[in-house]
Amino acid sequence: MEKFDNIIIGAGIAGLSASLTSMKLGMKTALIEKNSAPGGTARDCSHNYICGLFKNDDTMPFEIANKGLCKDIYKYFFDLYGDKALVKIGKVEVLAFIQEDLWAFFLNQLKEDNFSFYKNIKHKKTIFTDTCVEKILITTQHNKTVTLSADVFINATGSADLSKKSHDTYLPDAPQSDNDQLGGYSIILKGKSKKELSLIIPYTARKIIEKYNLENYLKFVTISYNFLSDMTVLKFSVQEGQDIEKCHFIYEKLVGDVKELANLKYLTSSKRIHLRSCDNLNFNGPNQKEEKTDEECIAKSYWPAEIWDKNRGTQYKYIKKDNPFCIPVAALKDKKYNNLFLAGKNIRVPKLIQASARVMGVCIATGEQASISAFKSLKEN
Ligand SMILES: Cc1cc2nc3c(=O)[nH]c(=O)nc-3n(C[C@H](O)[C@H](O)[C@H](O)COP(=O)(O)OP(=O)(O)OC[C@H]3O[C@@H](n4cnc5c(N)ncnc54)[C@H](O)[C@@H]3O)c2cc1C
Repeated sequence: MEKFDNIIIGAGIAGLSASLTSMKLGMKTALIEKNSAPGGTARDCSHNYICGLFKNDDTMPFEIANKGLCKDIYKYFFDLYGDKALVKIGKVEVLAFIQEDLWAFFLNQLKEDNFSFYKNIKHKKTIFTDTCVEKILITTQHNKTVTLSADVFINATGSADLSKKSHDTYLPDAPQSDNDQLGGYSIILKGKSKKELSLIIPYTARKIIEKYNLENYLKFVTISYNFLSDMTVLKFSVQEGQDIEKCHFIYEKLVGDVKELANLKYLTSSKRIHLRSCDNLNFNGPNQKEEKTDEECIAKSYWPAEIWDKNRGTQYKYIKKDNPFCIPVAALKDKKYNNLFLAGKNIRVPKLIQASARVMGVCIATGEQASISAFKSLKEN
């Protein structure tokens, strides 16, 4: 049985950030990923922009929200693309990137002797004691079961797979009531969408929905273009898996009605309907006066909260520059198991903060901080 200091499960943006930090801190690190390539949701959904990296403050444009790895990534892309990487969409600032450049940033650095990357390997089972994670069982490509142990573990699976046992509440992204947040479904197209489409598409979608008597929330379609990767993304708000067929139905009708859309080649699609952990931890942020110390606030999120409104679609609650959501270190610690840490979109957050805390910029910060917390706990014990 191979023994590590730190085992990280999931090689999405959070797991990669946790791995790089862990390796640099000198911990013997293993990263386990069930797919053949790293990147997780951001790769599957062909993301074009890192959201949540900046403070969205007009007086200080493109000021970084979290230092450390977020700053390194910002610098790397700025050196590669210059000003072109800095994009303002409405009230928010994002960093444009090309997929392979982002994964290369991590893979080119994850090369030390103290790092092992297990690709195409699924974490299958976890062995717990009363208070700790003891070891995990993984299945290799040849269907062999291998046991790995570590002093600390980081769950970066995006779905809190490892910690389901110890959390009180699990919430699907899809809403239980009208006020909850909806899931998302994206259709990714090759080529440039004209600016006018951002008005024409929602208008035409609304007509299609009325004509075919489809659910009201499906009409909230957005379209955006990234010139770095020459891709257009059509995004739908969805409630459950069966809506996806309807999204494709609407897409086909849109292609029939809007010539400019028909010129864009269909590439792929992706969905966001997951079970996610939720916890009523006390977060600083809008409407909360209590100040957190830097020690308690390990990462800040300036990305807007998303609140679903059945008549108006997703409504954004923008964050004031001096009052971001402060993510407490407790959000990265498992409730029950002392040596289990959480990173990325499966950290423990109240519902209001879920959308704000899961964007890539914040996942980078929580991934980094999960490894720092893991390292500190190793030193203390
Ligand atoms: C449709 C959509 C559009 C979005 N648009 C943007 C955007 O434009 N910009 C932005 O910043 N954010 C965006 N987000 C949010 C952002 O992509 C995600 O929240 C973020 O990428 C999550 O990263 P993560 O590392 O926490 O999880 P994930 O990226 O989900 O990574 C988890 C990884 O764990 C692996 N894994 C899971 N279970 C196991 C297991 N048992 N064994 C081994 N491996 C396992 C998975 O294969 C995956 O690689 C979007 C999300 C969606 C769904």
